[in-house]
Amino acid sequence: MIHEHRVLNPATEELVATVPATTAEEVAVAVTRAAAAQRTWAALAPADRARLLRRFAVLVDEHAERLARLEVTEAGHTLGNARWEAANVRDLLDYAAGGVERLTGRQIPVPGGIDVTFLEPLGVVGVIAPWNFPLPIAAWGAAPALAAGNAVLLKPAETTPLTALRLARLALDAGLPEHLFQVLPGAGDVAGNALVEHPGVAKIVFTGSTRVGKQIMARCAQRVKRLTLELGGKSPNIVFADADIEAAAAAAPMSFLDNAGQDCCARTRILVQRSVYDRFLEHLVPAVASVAVGDPSDERTQMGPLISRAQLERVRTLVPEDADGIRGSAPGGPGFWFPPTVLTGIAPDAPVATDEVFGPVAVVLPFEDEDDAVRLANATEYGLAGSIWTRDVGRALRVSRAVRAGNLSVNSHSAVRYWTPFGGYRQSGLGRELGPDALAAFTETKNVFIGTEA
Ligand code: NAD
Repeated sequence: MIHEHRVLNPATEELVATVPATTAEEVAVAVTRAAAAQRTWAALAPADRARLLRRFAVLVDEHAERLARLEVTEAGHTLGNARWEAANVRDLLDYAAGGVERLTGRQIPVPGGIDVTFLEPLGVVGVIAPWNFPLPIAAWGAAPALAAGNAVLLKPAETTPLTALRLARLALDAGLPEHLFQVLPGAGDVAGNALVEHPGVAKIVFTGSTRVGKQIMARCAQRVKRLTLELGGKSPNIVFADADIEAAAAAAPMSFLDNAGQDCCARTRILVQRSVYDRFLEHLVPAVASVAVGDPSDERTQMGPLISRAQLERVRTLVPEDADGIRGSAPGGPGFWFPPTVLTGIAPDAPVATDEVFGPVAVVLPFEDEDDAVRLANATEYGLAGSIWTRDVGRALRVSRAVRAGNLSVNSHSAVRYWTPFGGYRQSGLGRELGPDALAAFTETKNVFIGTEA
């Protein structure tokens, strides 16, 4: 069994820290403590819970630069991205805090009495996070779960436990009850699995690969355990001939190169109407070349390294070496670097065109007309995100409704805001995070009838 995890800087391969791995027995102790803390937390006045969460947000804000630098060091994120991520945690805590006093039930007209509903906390929630966005994804689960009156046990990814541990420290400093928000670093099949199997954990929020998500779903089914899944993606970027082609080509690179492509919303299938295919590629070549790849702690850098050697090998395996396309440059020497890569002449059903690569790699595929674009856009098992470039409003709406994905943007690649819902269709996930309903996903609805005739 692994007793500790080595955290490496992905840009240099230097050892940053070793972190003890939580055992299944330690998870069980954490669940018992969290259950006790949750009772204390849920008994507080809503305004007091909200105040503590806002104080947590203030501390995250005060430590934002340190959190961001830690994210750069352990995850290889560019400094600009990491700063956005720390701010996202702060904003989400604030937003969730605003929901505590607004988490109201309903009063429903019935004969012979009154009928009311209560939104009650679930109890202890397990959040299992991946390495690609360690800070935001930890908060996407934890903030609304805490705001709805639950305790949270967070299992970060093996490679990226440090920002999560820092968040838990800040929660304590903010005055949240001890053991209410615990971080349990460790192996997925040990600490993660212990959360999934433990009867005292009422819900699992899992973000990660579709493969592991399916296993967790099957295990949760044994106990009918509540579950939110945020899984993989292979999202289309659809460029119609009537679009602003220069703008579409200029925006395309960072839609799949951000976070070195380790983004479940990455627009990795660029679908271009055949009549503008050559013109689009002409503009895409300089746009890809202009992306600054290198030291993630340099403020000018737009793309850093991959997370690990294993991820680098996975990307290399999926990308055919002899394929035509556009290739940018990447640093040599230590670090897990892969250059920006756009492949052309790839069959639409080739693995690199249908499987999630999770690296800085996209394919460009031509399409004939609107129906063909929608057919190609939907031709994977995923349905997380997508972009549509067109100047025709009717087409923008028709295609938005026809693409089976949870998060679409028109003439933009924006996908994630903490105040709008986020999640996947089909094998990209189950349930929604963020947005106005985020807290409700961490409650049970209880219906109570009070007779007035007796
Ligand atoms: P992963 O599935 O290997 O691991 C994710 C987490 O699950 C880690 O903390 C891991 O330790 C844990 N885990 C692994 N096996 C487990 C088990 N048997 N039981 C319980 N927990 C277990 O994924 P990854 O490689 O860390 O992350 C990359 C994947 O995450 C990509 O496929 C990506 O698309 C997906 N992702 C999805 C979203 C989304 O919101 N849809 C966001 C980010 C990442």
